[in-house]
Amino acid sequence: MESGTVDTTTSGTTSAANGAEGGGVEQIEVRNPATGDLVATIPVDSPESVAATVARVRVNQPEWEALGVQGRYRWLGRLRDWLLDNNDRILDTMQAETGKVRGDASNELPYLTDVINFYGSRGAKFIGDESVRPHTLLFGSKKFRVQYRPYPVVGVISPWNFPLVLGMGDAIPALMAGAAVVVKPSDFTPLGLSEIIEAWKTEIGAPDVFDCVQGMGETGEALIDAVDYIQFTGSDRTGRQVMRRAAETLTPVSLELGGKDPMIVLDDADLDRAANAAAWGGMFNSGQTCEAVERIYVEEPVYDEFVSKLTKEVSGLRQGADGRRPEKDVGAMTSPNQTAVIEDHVTDALANGARALTGGKRVEGPGDYFEPTVLVDVDHSMKVMRDETFGPVVGVMKVRDTEEAVRLANDTRYGLSASVFGEKSRAEGVARRIECGAVNVNDVIVNFIATDVPMGGWKDSGIGFRHGEWGIKKFCRPESLIITRFGGRREPTWYPYNKGRRGLVARIARFFHARDLKRRLGLRG
Ligand code: NAD
Repeated sequence: MESGTVDTTTSGTTSAANGAEGGGVEQIEVRNPATGDLVATIPVDSPESVAATVARVRVNQPEWEALGVQGRYRWLGRLRDWLLDNNDRILDTMQAETGKVRGDASNELPYLTDVINFYGSRGAKFIGDESVRPHTLLFGSKKFRVQYRPYPVVGVISPWNFPLVLGMGDAIPALMAGAAVVVKPSDFTPLGLSEIIEAWKTEIGAPDVFDCVQGMGETGEALIDAVDYIQFTGSDRTGRQVMRRAAETLTPVSLELGGKDPMIVLDDADLDRAANAAAWGGMFNSGQTCEAVERIYVEEPVYDEFVSKLTKEVSGLRQGADGRRPEKDVGAMTSPNQTAVIEDHVTDALANGARALTGGKRVEGPGDYFEPTVLVDVDHSMKVMRDETFGPVVGVMKVRDTEEAVRLANDTRYGLSASVFGEKSRAEGVARRIECGAVNVNDVIVNFIATDVPMGGWKDSGIGFRHGEWGIKKFCRPESLIITRFGGRREPTWYPYNKGRRGLVARIARFFHARDLKRRLGLRG
């Protein structure tokens, strides 16, 4: 574990807290974090059951692949329609397991229906056969083609903060690529995803190439052992464990990990927009967002005004369980382990000289809540400015100039995304200097739904990218076809070796590779 962090492992601590032994089969108790009520109890899949699920979908995968992108899109299009028709039902389930407010929960399904259409309409272009022109006349007798064949079974391991977006969002391009997919959702949030997969199998009646398995770390490890490719989203700590496990079977991985995203506010920014964006970007989904705004650097001339606008916006947010009027803005913390991390970061900051302008503590139950919090007088010695907080907390620092803002924004082991607010060409110039996978200029988090462009982490925030061509090609292996259009009985490089043939090869290489006439004609060297 990184020094100064609190253990947030779901497997182990969660199974002890949430799990219960029942009839010899380990159980997961799913509780509503907004109320503490028990929502469901589901059995954990043993390693044998995981292997059996993977083996079953593996058998059906070749037929799925043979359908082609258009054939597969027909099935995924039916899933899109089902999601649109069953929006409220799925949101109810997902809200009950996450404690999200409806406004936060409502963001998940539109992302999925868009991803289905995006890869359905562009998939054939992204992974269709490529015809490649040889780079040299030496290959004049050949035709080059590349075809993209899927990894037969892709395993998706997902976290609890966006159970549908992160459980399904990568499964969709993997299915569109022709792979079979098995998802292991977080043990905190297994219900919404399994309801969708059950509908895929029964209500939609789609091919048996998409399933889920339930459990904690051991179930995840069994999935890694059984599949051909692993798409993991979660903490960088678990990401390292996943990569180590996958190394045993040389299984490729794509890792979408944590962040500590900075926001820079330049002195020519629209301060109302910047403050409102910081409030939403920091508090959306109770701050449990990998791309949440966690650190804010504001140029000196506008610092006071920005902080006052931000504090006003955040202190006006309505927090609590949904379902009672008025509507709420900020919901519960989905994982009690995470609430402990937030409390630790805020306590550390306050003890070292930070001030909370609003919020700063847990809310008394029922339910698990942390107040929307704005901290000032923070610095990079504090956990809250260094480690991923993953809660409704932002730390704001005054900076002398752009140089200091860029230096501090890049002073992190993470590199997921960032945002810069200011006059747009100046802000774009600053954005280009931030070391991370995506920078939003005069907006926050929006890159996550900009499916046309890559989304992924630099540094400890991950390996690999989702979205765009990257997001589907990674589930495929290129197969190059070198097709001889014409040729004699032998190539000059074949047997038998002799001086004459060797000389011919050398003269051909000289002729085609030399870039000056003397060498090309053999008059030099
Ligand atoms: P986590 O790493 O604790 O768990 C993620 C998943 O891994 C869960 O399903 C868990 O059961 C499983 N798991 C645990 N141990 C495992 C093991 N040894 N082998 C295989 N699987 C194992 O993460 P979390 O607490 O559920 O989620 C929060 C983290 O996810 C944050 O760090 C957040 O930034 C990150 N995240 C990243 C993105 C992104 O796209 N980059 C998106 C959302 C969340």
